[in-house]
Amino acid sequence: MSELHILSVTKQFGTVPVLHGIDLVIRQGEFFTLLGPSGCGKTTLLRVLAGFLMPDSGSVMLGRQRLDLLPAHQRDIGMVFQDYAVFPHLTVAENIGFGLKARSVSSAQMRERVQEAMQMVQLDGLADRLPSALSGGQQQRVGLARAIAIRPQLLLMDEPLSNLDAKLRTELRDEIRDLQKRLGITTIYVTHDQEEALAVSDRICVMNRGRAEQTDDPFTIYSAPATRFAASFVGTMNFIPCDNHGASLRIGQDGLAQTHALQGMCPRGAFELAIRPEHIEIVSGTDSRPDGYVLQGRVEKTVYLGREVQIKLALNGYSLLVQTPVPSRRNLAREGDRISVWLPFAHLVMCHPDGRAGALQPS
Ligand code: ATP
Repeated sequence: MSELHILSVTKQFGTVPVLHGIDLVIRQGEFFTLLGPSGCGKTTLLRVLAGFLMPDSGSVMLGRQRLDLLPAHQRDIGMVFQDYAVFPHLTVAENIGFGLKARSVSSAQMRERVQEAMQMVQLDGLADRLPSALSGGQQQRVGLARAIAIRPQLLLMDEPLSNLDAKLRTELRDEIRDLQKRLGITTIYVTHDQEEALAVSDRICVMNRGRAEQTDDPFTIYSAPATRFAASFVGTMNFIPCDNHGASLRIGQDGLAQTHALQGMCPRGAFELAIRPEHIEIVSGTDSRPDGYVLQGRVEKTVYLGREVQIKLALNGYSLLVQTPVPSRRNLAREGDRISVWLPFAHLVMCHPDGRAGALQPS
């Protein structure tokens, strides 16, 4: 039982680099998620950990053991795949017991472990069924039971929910999370679904083009993105183009009064300010406030969603999505209205041209 260290792992296919020196430490018992768009290298990294691929350079340590030098079958790892990967000619119980056979577990022990794993994933009573007589959700439960039956040190899951419908996905997601916590198995989970990642993970690594861009707990990933990519990939984010010439600060195509506190917090040159729709507040009047920036725009579109309304606001040279509660029918903004919104400094994220992002800092 120990930490997993991924040290400067690189991998390329032909001449195309897919992993550019990944460094990660995954803690004992942690639910750790690799989150990123299609093609960013998540599966490749998982396959390196499982032993299906050799890295070009770098190493993987599980405690003091050099994992990357062991063949796949000698690594103490359980794996759950997107397409279930159950054997169609074996029953549920035989599928779950498959990994135990190879580990020369006695048949009495095997029956016990299979039974225990079936209970954990709620497959009781289905031991003799063939996979063709199971739903997609049940087949993935078999995949999960097979992976945990061997009591691995490490559990790897590659988009295990993507073939299931939305309702089942949420249900099984919560079950996987509960089961992982109960068993305490260090788990690395791959997904491109940011909501899924936020819901299940202890920590998330946001990957982009073969690089680990930010590794943090879900709250920090969402509230304090460290790169522009992380800001844009997780949740919805507004980006406002800005340019600070020293003499004037341009926000979109508007020049801002030089005396405004915002200018003192911005670097010289071009950059973007980012803010989430739910952090923008509709205010009355256009007066500047010391703790934020007030601007006016024209309502281009409103979408009423019951507990909130989404407003697309057109400004000079950019637009903002505003997500706000509706206190009363009277306060519902209509298309064409001019309204004022307040962007609190505390929620503005500075995005630098080199891709870094961070909180606004008084300079
Ligand atoms: P997805 O969510 O679509 O599975 P991913 O983030 O898991 O994406 P990978 O499967 O790791 O991405 O693939 C990363 C890149 O490497 C992609 O451009 C892919 O086409 C390429 N790639 C993966 N496996 C191979 C291979 N065996 N040979 C050549 N290129 C490959």
